[in-house]
Formats: sequence, structure tokens, C-alpha cells
Amino acid sequence: MGRFILKCLKCGREYGQEYRLTCEDDNSLLRAEYFEKRLELRDQPGIGRFHSWLPVQEELTTEAGPITYKSEALAKELGLSNLYIGFSGYWPEKGAFIKTCSFKELEAHPTMQLLKESRGKAIVLASAGNTGRAFAHTSALTGIDVYIVVPDSGIPKLWLPEEPTDSIHLISMTPGNDYTDAINLAGRIAKLPGMVPEGGARNVARREGMGTVMLDAAVTIGKMPDHYFQAVGSGTGGISAWEAALRLRDDGRFGSGLPKLQLAQNLPFVPMYSAWQAGRREIIPEIDMKDAKKQIEETYATVLTNRAPPYSVIGGLYDALVDTDGIMYAVTKEEALEAKALFESLEGIDILPPSAVAVASLLKAVEAGNVGKDDTILLNIAGGGFKRLKEDITLFQVEPEVTVRDSDVPLEDLKI
Ligand SMILES: *Cc1c(COP(=O)(O)O)cnc(C)c1O
Ligand SMILES: [Zn+2]
Repeated sequence: MGRFILKCLKCGREYGQEYRLTCEDDNSLLRAEYFEKRLELRDQPGIGRFHSWLPVQEELTTEAGPITYKSEALAKELGLSNLYIGFSGYWPEKGAFIKTCSFKELEAHPTMQLLKESRGKAIVLASAGNTGRAFAHTSALTGIDVYIVVPDSGIPKLWLPEEPTDSIHLISMTPGNDYTDAINLAGRIAKLPGMVPEGGARNVARREGMGTVMLDAAVTIGKMPDHYFQAVGSGTGGISAWEAALRLRDDGRFGSGLPKLQLAQNLPFVPMYSAWQAGRREIIPEIDMKDAKKQIEETYATVLTNRAPPYSVIGGLYDALVDTDGIMYAVTKEEALEAKALFESLEGIDILPPSAVAVASLLKAVEAGNVGKDDTILLNIAGGGFKRLKEDITLFQVEPEVTVRDSDVPLEDLKI
């Protein structure tokens, strides 16, 4: 018995329960339609609670899951009466047990489970760091092979809360290559026999996993928030929050208004902000990311630097922003650092750079009057608790199996 179908957002063609990234006819995004229309929480410790709307057959038993709590100190500082924090990371005092410290793990568990259920052998992905760590961790837990291509700047982010296993294959790229070069190389490796591409935003399991932050908030608060704040690089988290909200609206118990997406990028690399400000569905590289490589080198939160985000596609971030009457922000490094210090001192947990960018955008929104003081606000702290984790456990660095100079390297050289 299947639990869902996949439906093309462009032509409506339907597919069964399988690991499929795009429509055969037009290459468009697919969206899962679940036979369960009401969210029925399962008795699982983490993300498995949201089984109703996860594209897997078996319930996930991992302790990793999002948590939501009502802010007191930061809320008071900002004069907000209904500020909720969605926290994905390690914070045992609050019941948060994502040991790779970001919401990328929320996508890794359902993706690996779906891969297993569809008899895939190995998964291939590119990562600026956090996604690679999340998949390496799930590979260590499940024994399923992962091939992770990471630009040089991402290597220090490839640590694990356990000893690396032989199922983890790390391919690093020399300095000068960025995240997009890693995507290009991973795309080539994924065409080898037996390899399945992770797929990024096209991966339904990824989107549903990230969407559980919105689901957790809705069940904790009792309704959908009015506003959703997140820092974006690909924007997949924003798309996911929107899709989760569409399902919650259909459920009927969580309100009928969609949360307004308020999303941030960090200067100087802000292609989606730039296109959205200009009212464009298309990202024009010469205008929106001139000197991209140089801009990327100058950004604070490098996780947010995707040169080919799913912004223009049908069902992508542009559509999500239009449908929710969204707003985008551009944040400087100074603003992010200030916001990070403020958040950490008031809320009492360390946060990752992209989450500092998200906090900075909330400060800007309050100042600009883009939120009402009694509005219900969800601030997605998509990564944090790294310092807290190091107090409790020893971390292990994953070592590259091979280092390559550029994305055109002959694949024989990789000895896969
Ligand atoms: C990946 C990541 C983001 C950006 O996610 P999108 O895919 O652009 O939605 C933000 N914060 C953290 C901590 C991340 O790891
Ligand atoms: Zn189609």
C-alpha cells in the first residue's frame, strides 16, 4: 500500500511512490500528495512524528527533529509578544537532538529512507558543508553509501558525532572552486551506474523534511504563524515551509492564512533578493550576481551562496514569495555578527552563521514595521548548538578520499 503520489506542478502528470526528482515530460518539480490529509502525530521521538506527510513507508525512529519554543528574552528586547523560535540543532535542555547541528539532517533521514525503500544503492550530493555533514551522519547510521563533493571551504564543516564509516566517500575540491563547482562535479558523478543524485530542491523528501519545522511550529502554537523568518541560499527551506503551510491549510485545524515568508541573504551575494526587489521571476547573472565568485568569497555565511537556486521554476521560491506576499532582506556581515551576539546572550544557545543572518533580518523587519508587535512570528534558527555539542561529545573529522582541481576532472581519476 502506497502512502502518496507524486504530481508534476506543470502538467499534472502523476507518478507512483518512487525516488523521482522531476517530471519525465517537462523536467518540472514534483509535489507529493499524501493520502492522509489530516496531520496525525506518530509516537516517535523526532521527525518521525510527522510521518503523515513524509514520503517514506516506514516510520523514522531517529531522535533528530525540530523543536519550537516561545521566546522570552529576545521577544522582550524586540517588543514582540508572540515570537516563537524553531530550533534545529543540539540543545538537550530543550529536547533538541540534531547532532549535526542543522536542519539539513531533517532532509537527510527521509531521503536516505526513501532511497532504501526504492532500492537505490548510493547517493551523490554537493554540499557547502552542512548538507554533507548531515548525509555523512545518516550514512554512518544506516551504512548506505554517500558520495559527497565539497569545496575546500566546506571541509572543516565535515565533522561527525561518531567515527566515520567506509560508507562515506568525501571528494574535496581545491581552493578557487565554490559550491556551484561542487554541484557540477556531483552532477557528473551522479550519472555513473548505481548512483542516485540527491537532487536538492527537486528532492521531495528533502523538502518534506525541512517542512517539518513549520509543522512542528503549527502543532506547538496551535495554528500557523503569521510570519516565517529564515536565511536562504537555495531557498528550499522557504519552498518547504510554504508547501507545509499549504497542507496545514487543507487540514483545516491550523488556520487559513499562509505565513508570510520573510527571507534573507547575506551581502554582497544576494541574487534572489536582487531579483525579487526588481519584481523579476528570472535571475539575471550580470545584474543579480555580478562577479559571483568574488562576492561569494566576501560573504560571511557561505552556506547561503548558491549560484543556481530553484527560484524561477514553477513551484519554486518566486512562486512561494508571490503566494505568501513575501519579503526579502539583504544583511551585512556586521548586522549578522551583532544579531548573533544578541541572540546568543538573550536565548542562551550558540547559533550558526546563516541563523545569525536570519536573526538580523528579524531585527530589520521589526524596525521597518514588517511585523506587528502581537503577530505570531516563527524564527527558523536552522542551525545551532555546535558549541553546546562540543561540551558533551568528541567530534571526528571526515577525511577526503580524493581532492580534485576542477569540475571537469576525468571521472576515472576519482577511482569510484
Ligand atoms: C542550508 C542552510 C540554510 C539555507 O537553506 P535553504 O536551502 O536555502 O533553504 C540556512 N541555514 C542553515 C543553518 C543551513 O544549513
Ligand atoms: Zn510534467
